[in-house]
Amino acid sequence: MREQSIDLKKLRTRLKRQLQETIPDARIDYCLTCGLCASGCPASGIEGMDPRKFLRLLILGQDEALLETDWIYSCTMCQRCEYACPMKINVGRFVYELRGMRPRDRRPQNLQRSCDLQKESNSTGIPNDDFVWVVDDVLAEVRENEPEWADLQAPIDKKGAEFYLNQNAKEPTVEPEEMVPLWKILHAAGIDWTYSSRWWDGANYCLFSGDPEDWEKTVRNQAETVDALGVRYYINTE
Ligand code: SF4
Ligand code: SF4
Repeated sequence: MREQSIDLKKLRTRLKRQLQETIPDARIDYCLTCGLCASGCPASGIEGMDPRKFLRLLILGQDEALLETDWIYSCTMCQRCEYACPMKINVGRFVYELRGMRPRDRRPQNLQRSCDLQKESNSTGIPNDDFVWVVDDVLAEVRENEPEWADLQAPIDKKGAEFYLNQNAKEPTVEPEEMVPLWKILHAAGIDWTYSSRWWDGANYCLFSGDPEDWEKTVRNQAETVDALGVRYYINTE
């Protein structure tokens, strides 16, 4: 009877052990249940969950509840919990691992779709020719309507530029005029910069889907473009 209860306990804390193996400084057992993490967490109360409760469930072996809760997609992974925690426990890091454990077909489909699209080019799925066309069109309009900015630049694939910039895909897609203030600042500061015509999307949805190889691929695509263009600095605007 005693042996059976020990086995059950081991079974019930499978997720905790898995996280401890994956994250060497997980410090799960250090929790004091003080609740400081929950007091500053922007996701506290959503789906009936908060970081302190999340940790309680983990320590008590309530793996099923943790693997099922959609609260993991409300956590912003902002790390405020770790900042507030006297034991420096980072619940957002556990959330990231849980997202990766969720089967792809049971993840929020808009998140997974954006990530999948981004691995091919950009998270909106618009053709890259459209991005180039929008940039050129908006630039031409500014030059024509604002004489003081007649020599404004928005270079694309400029070899040897000093800075490589990307752009939130939402802007060229639905509010293209929002790109202009940044162009003007760069111009006024005399910055030599360029976009890429392919890897121009600065958001990285794969960072939130929980698959490290996916978000690594997204960053690597841009880093390789920086190298291919001979650009010195990579600025991620997101
Ligand atoms: S990382 Fe997640 S759990 Fe921690 S404070 Fe931010 S939203 Fe809350
Ligand atoms: S702040 Fe840290 S110690 Fe306090 S309940 Fe949250 S995780 Fe536990």
